[in-house]
Formats: sequence, C-alpha cells, structure tokens
Amino acid sequence: MSSGAGTQPEWLNFEQQHVWHPYASMLDPMPVYPVRSASGVELELEDGRRLIDGMASWWCAIHGYNVPELNQAIEDQLQRMSHVMFGGLAHEPAARLASLLLQLAPEGMQHVFFADSGSVSVEVAIKMALQYWQAQGRKEKSRLLTIRHGYHGDTFGAMAVCDPVSGMHHLFSGLLPGHYFADPPTARTDEEWDDVQIESFRALITEHRHEIAAVILEPLVQGAGGMRFYAPEFLQQVSLLCAEYDVLLIVDEIATGFGRTGTMFACEKAGIFPDIMCIGKALTGGYISMAAVLTSEKVCRGVHAGGDVLMHGPTFMANPLACAVALASIKLLLAGDWQGRVQAIERQLSDELAACRALDGVADVRVKGAIGVLEMKQAVDVAAVQHTLVEAGVWLRPFGKLIYTMPPYVMRPDQLSLLTSAMFDAASHGH
Ligand SMILES: *Cc1c(COP(=O)(O)O)cnc(C)c1O
Repeated sequence: MSSGAGTQPEWLNFEQQHVWHPYASMLDPMPVYPVRSASGVELELEDGRRLIDGMASWWCAIHGYNVPELNQAIEDQLQRMSHVMFGGLAHEPAARLASLLLQLAPEGMQHVFFADSGSVSVEVAIKMALQYWQAQGRKEKSRLLTIRHGYHGDTFGAMAVCDPVSGMHHLFSGLLPGHYFADPPTARTDEEWDDVQIESFRALITEHRHEIAAVILEPLVQGAGGMRFYAPEFLQQVSLLCAEYDVLLIVDEIATGFGRTGTMFACEKAGIFPDIMCIGKALTGGYISMAAVLTSEKVCRGVHAGGDVLMHGPTFMANPLACAVALASIKLLLAGDWQGRVQAIERQLSDELAACRALDGVADVRVKGAIGVLEMKQAVDVAAVQHTLVEAGVWLRPFGKLIYTMPPYVMRPDQLSLLTSAMFDAASHGH
C-alpha cells in the first residue's frame, strides 16, 4: 500500500479505538481511509491521494462536493440564523422549501413535515398512518405490509419493515411489531410484466386488509436491501389494491428522489399518487442531514379527525441551514439538464459495465438511471476489494455480494470510465 504508517494523521489511532463506524466492529475494526477534503467528484485523503467518488456519500452528494452555490446558500443563511426551534416559530427557508417540494412532488401532496433524517421520516410516516386509522375509530388497522428485501432505516419502526433476514430482525425478534412481508417482484424491467409478480402481495392484502394501516415500499429500486430493480407495473398494481382495500400507500423515495432513476421521483414512472411520501438523502445535496414527509390532504385531515395532533417534533426540525441548502440544491438541479446527465450516465454505465457479464464471479449486471450494480456470485471481501479500488483511485463501498456505484450527476465521462474499469478489475480479481 502506497500510504505507509508515516503518512497517517496522528488522530487516526485514537479514532479507531474510540469512535464507532457504521455497521462495523468496534473491537476488530476494518480499515478506514482518512479524508482531508472533498471537492467536485473527488475525495482527497490525508496522504494526498485523490479518489473519484462513485458513492456520492451514500447517494446524497448529487452535485459533488464543495459546490459554490451550496456553500454560498449556507454562508448567507449562517449570517441570519443557523437554527431556531420550530415550535411556535416559522421561517422563510422552511416555507420556500416546502413550497418548492410540493410543486415537484406527485399531484395530491399538500403538506410537509420536516424531519432530521430518513429513518425519522419513516417513523413519522408510520405514526401518521397509524394515527389516521385510530382517528377514524379503526384501531385494528395497525399493521404494515411491505415486500422482502426492503430497507427503510435503522430506527425501530423503520427496522420492523426492513427485510426480515438482512434487516437484523433476529437480533430484536419479540421487540419488533409483526408486519406482513410479500414476495418481492422478480421482474426485470426489460422483461414483459406478468401478473404472477403481484400474487403474494395481493393474497396478503386481501386476507389482512382489516388490520393493515398502510403499505410501505421503495418505488422501483430497493436500495440498501440489495440494489434490486423492479417494474413500474408492480407499483401500479399495489396502488390499485391499496385503493380497493382502503389501505394507505407510503412511498419511501429517500434513495430514489431527486432524479436518481431518471425522473424527479421514481413513482412518477408508474404514474401513481401516494398518500404519504418520504424524501431525504439527496434533499440537501449531501450537505446536512434532513428529510421530509409529504402527505395528501386526506391523510392530513384524517390524522386530526379524532381531535388529536401529530405528536412529533424533533429538536432540529426544519433547521434553517438545512432548508437553505436544500432549496439551493434543488434550484441548482432544476437549472441544469439533470435528466440528460442521468440518461448519459445510464448509457455509459450500461455500455461499460456490460463486459463484466463475461466474468466468472459475476452473477448479474444491472443499470437503472445513475445506478450501476455488479452482483457477484459470492459475498465480496469488502476490505480487500476496497483496497484494490482505492489503489485504482476510486471510492466505492461494496456490501454483501454487491459492487455498485451511485455517482454524483456531475461526474465527467472520463471519470466515470475510471470508475467502471476499476469495478471490472475488482470483479475480475474474484474477491
Ligand atoms: C437511507 C435510507 C433510509 C434511511 O435514511 P437515514 O437518513 O440514513 O436515516 C430510509 N429509506 C431508504 C430507502 C434509504 O435509502
């Protein structure tokens, strides 16, 4: 490795012994790479190496890093106020952001609840759905229906609708509410739709409609649960069944929102209108944690029908810095040809990753929008693969059997080619 111990910063040793990293052992830590700064689509390590970032920091830095317009928005807001409580106070950045979100969202979304992370927005969405039915005097509608291989966050309510196997339900069995899990659609989007895909879902919703408050789904792309893609027809069927059986539909657009799959929100591709929508991740262009729950008029009125209010209010609700940078990020997105960029990335990923299909260790290659996935036949050795990738000058974070990229939309074709050839090399080395 070109970075000898001598080039490591002095704080790293302490950090490794005392600071938890996500999904990692504190006692037997995996290597971490110290970063000094980031700009454009590059991370600069403490030893001076520059890596092309194919992760957009877990899918949120859609414009890359150190973006002048976004820096300016934060600096301007900082001069006015970085934060005030949202209980009893209101401010322009939140109002303007809410207005822009409702303009962009699918028709019917009328109200915005600002949360501080994606997981919290999922908690709020679930709480709204439960409270909606309680207020109608239908307390028995208290369960959720979803599909396996989903991911909705790491807090308890969200965890209970994550995939029961990969979602660590076994660690907390007995503590998590029992929800219903249908077979996920297996249709590839290039195959013709077959109604058999919806059968398991239809059976569950038909049988349990009296106790199901809401369906929750990631539209078109199941992200952290396995980077699986499915056809819009599935969503259309789900939406029809929800309407038929009086079940609310929550779409979790936290990963797919803001253009990642080629449309502003993935559910647009299916032409469906959810009752509740969660957004997060790319909302602030990757600058500050923030999420939001959007709801229809029907849900909003229903939640209050029993005379109660929604009992939720994070300390940093509608943080003005986050609102200001989110507003700037969305304006920046709309000012450029984001759709053309995502399409160009999609074409290039399809062309350049196709060669990976011939590799022994590769089970599947799939691309949707600005998402490129290599599914290996076996779980990858993350530390080894990451080392290979860093040596090649790129940053990716494989998990399970997957080596994948969700690059910033501003990545140049030559930078993307470096990424895809590093993915090919990593996949061909067989680890
Ligand atoms: C990342 C993610 C979440 C959780 O968001 P956090 O901000 O990490 O809490 C929820 N749902 C989906 C689909 C996600 O991709």
